Amino acid sequence: MLNNLKPQAPDKILALMGEFRADPRDTKIDLGVGVYKDAEGRTPIMRAIHAAEKQMWDQETTKTYAGLAGQPEFHAAMAEMVLGAAYPADRLSCLSTVGGTGACRMGFELARMANPGCTVWASDPTWPNHLSILNFMGQAWKPYRYFDNATRAVDFDAMMADLAAVKAGDIVLLHGCCHNPTGANLTLEQWGVVADLFEKTGAIPMIDLAYQGFGDGLEEDAAGTRLIASRLPEVLIAASCSKNFGIYRERTGCLMVLGDAATQPVTQGTLAFLNRQTYSFPPYHGQALVTRVLTDKALRAEWEAELEEVRGGMLRLRQQLADELRKLSNSDRFDFVATHRGMFSRIGASPEQVETMKQNNAIYMVGDSRLNIAGLNDKTVPLLAQAIIDAGV
Ligand code: PMP
Repeated sequence: MLNNLKPQAPDKILALMGEFRADPRDTKIDLGVGVYKDAEGRTPIMRAIHAAEKQMWDQETTKTYAGLAGQPEFHAAMAEMVLGAAYPADRLSCLSTVGGTGACRMGFELARMANPGCTVWASDPTWPNHLSILNFMGQAWKPYRYFDNATRAVDFDAMMADLAAVKAGDIVLLHGCCHNPTGANLTLEQWGVVADLFEKTGAIPMIDLAYQGFGDGLEEDAAGTRLIASRLPEVLIAASCSKNFGIYRERTGCLMVLGDAATQPVTQGTLAFLNRQTYSFPPYHGQALVTRVLTDKALRAEWEAELEEVRGGMLRLRQQLADELRKLSNSDRFDFVATHRGMFSRIGASPEQVETMKQNNAIYMVGDSRLNIAGLNDKTVPLLAQAIIDAGV
């Protein structure tokens, strides 16, 4: 049996991590994997999470099974964070999942169960795992144009031209904020135009929200999602707690599904069914940590303060890199670095230029020239800027 298996193509980003580890140069800079790092290159446990963990250690008395669809208090806290305090509870179904990846997978599964003939539309480019999961599922998908390689901004006209072909019941996958891999995002006005399209066509939005709080702020980063949720009858939202709570390995995510009050019970039951068929109960620990942090006043204030430090740090690095590139290139063609939001920017280098920076400068970024801003610090920004210019980007 096992000799029938074919080798899987290695995950490019994980392979890059391996290459980085094997590079003996002590000047090497890792801008590859999508993990937040502080100026010392550490991915710390957030202060509020640490405190919540201590509380749990003291107070938790059992490790028996918990909710199949997840914890209702986690769902309520997540719904409030993502959709705002006035979220429509009677229309909302929630599922705790294995990270944001699990939320995406379960969202696709739900769509397939409800409408087997649907097509999923994904931005070109998107997080590669979206497409890999869709391919594995045998789910039909189509790309829509999104990123203008010349300006490194959203090509909104092209996006809308491609989405003109969506059919009623198709799923359109959008990044709620901090687009991965490009860093280029829709304006609130453009979210409004996208909402018009959904109203007109009957296509269904699915929003992947993996970086709330990493762009313009917790509320601001949810604005597009909230606009869509307020206007459309059916919406899927796949939220990840990995980045904004720094609990990557706890595997914590939440799929939120908005429908109407009449379909809610069956939708909620179907979500629980999907967990049961796939892995049964979802991980509990991360849900409990997030719930504590979001619902305890002091922990929440501590968490929001640290998240702001993280966000502010990335914005300063963006500005510093844009300033440095402006100076070295004697032009404003890299100003997009300061306009992009989140951990990533696609800087528009060719694969050869990316390779040159790896060989000559020990700078590791993904082959499509996505770099992780959080991999930088005050000292490495000038080195990266010089390498970008020397590579002829
Ligand atoms: N969606 C996007 C766009 C992401 O970048 C990520 C993290 N790389 C995820 C979803 C899921 O992350 P996780 O499963 O680790 O929560």
